[in-house]
Amino acid sequence: MIEATGLFKHYGPHEVLRDVCVTVAPGEVVAVIGPSGSGKSTLLRCLNGLAEITRGEITVAGTLLVRKGDPGQPDIQLHGPDLRALRAELGMVFQRYNLFPHMTAVGNVIEAPVHVRGVTVDEATEQAHQLLRRVGLTHRAQHYPQHLSGGEQQRVAIARALAMRPKAMLFDEATSALDPETVGEVLAVMRDLAADGMTMVVVTHEIGFARDAADRVVVMDEGSVVEEGPAKQVLSEPTNPRTQSFLRRVI
Ligand code: ATP
Ligand code: MG
Repeated sequence: MIEATGLFKHYGPHEVLRDVCVTVAPGEVVAVIGPSGSGKSTLLRCLNGLAEITRGEITVAGTLLVRKGDPGQPDIQLHGPDLRALRAELGMVFQRYNLFPHMTAVGNVIEAPVHVRGVTVDEATEQAHQLLRRVGLTHRAQHYPQHLSGGEQQRVAIARALAMRPKAMLFDEATSALDPETVGEVLAVMRDLAADGMTMVVVTHEIGFARDAADRVVVMDEGSVVEEGPAKQVLSEPTNPRTQSFLRRVI
């Protein structure tokens, strides 16, 4: 579903991704962990074309998003409508929910289907109610964001991303801005999605979630993937010293 090879990314002289390769098979759940500043968010932003790589190749759902710096091949970078179409295949949930404050939960969920996919308001609304039920918010459908808890807002954000019928979901620390008591409800929705077969890339500090919901764990440090493998193996018997010291600090 997502294939990224040999990714390099620079901000000025600062190399923030160094020869990163990540492959995510359809239905697979990959957790990305690592210290602050190791490049996890940058990697996600490159995978959905929000940030440009300096070198490497990324294919999403069979479409070449970008290829740069391959001596045998011309550079390619999707732009405009092609990039937007590809981005619509990927649902993204950030640390901050970024809901539209002047719209109800339903209003937030129908916005993109109606304005981007051209679905009728009636159809989008019916689908929105189904999605809100799926994330456990039937009783909050007509509430505005300011009257929802952080965990509820984040679940609306997940429903909103799902409303575009994405082929994969990317989560960037979706629970780290939440009160501890609401973290569990958001993780439960993410576990449901994973169990349902959704392809997911999850940047997270929740090692417990990574251990029992992810198929594979990718460990980043200083812009590189230092270790990856089956979740239980990497988290229980890490072989790389940098993974070992990171896990000692967070568990
Ligand atoms: P955290 O766990 O704190 O979210 P992260 O692993 O997501 O960290 P990134 O946000 O990807 O790390 O940042 C990787 C590096 O790139 C950091 O050194 C950061 O300062 C740098 N960086 C990120 N975004 C930019 C930017 N827009 N301009 C310049 N440098 C940036
Ligand atoms: Mg980050």
